[in-house]
Amino acid sequence: MTVLTGRTRRGFAHTDWCARDHQCGLGEHRAHPVTLSAGPAGVAVLTRVLAADGRQHVEIRTRITLAAGEPQARAHLAHILTSLQALLKRVISRRR
Ligand SMILES: [Zn+2]
Repeated sequence: MTVLTGRTRRGFAHTDWCARDHQCGLGEHRAHPVTLSAGPAGVAVLTRVLAADGRQHVEIRTRITLAAGEPQARAHLAHILTSLQALLKRVISRRR
């Protein structure tokens, strides 16, 4: 459950998990990011967001080092694309 506390200048209440940074004044509230590291080859950063329209979502940024060489990099990209598509379908279906 999200608890709303305090008020910003524009009247939006903070959530209990809000990091209370400059984004609050723009109508959205963002948690402190959580970083998942897989060493030098990869990292993902997840941030919980309450958007100005009242919906919540998670913002995910990732950086993955590609395989060396053009054909290998392309094959690696194809693998990442299909893996992320499968993961996206799986995590979306959990909310139902
Ligand atoms: Zn806030």
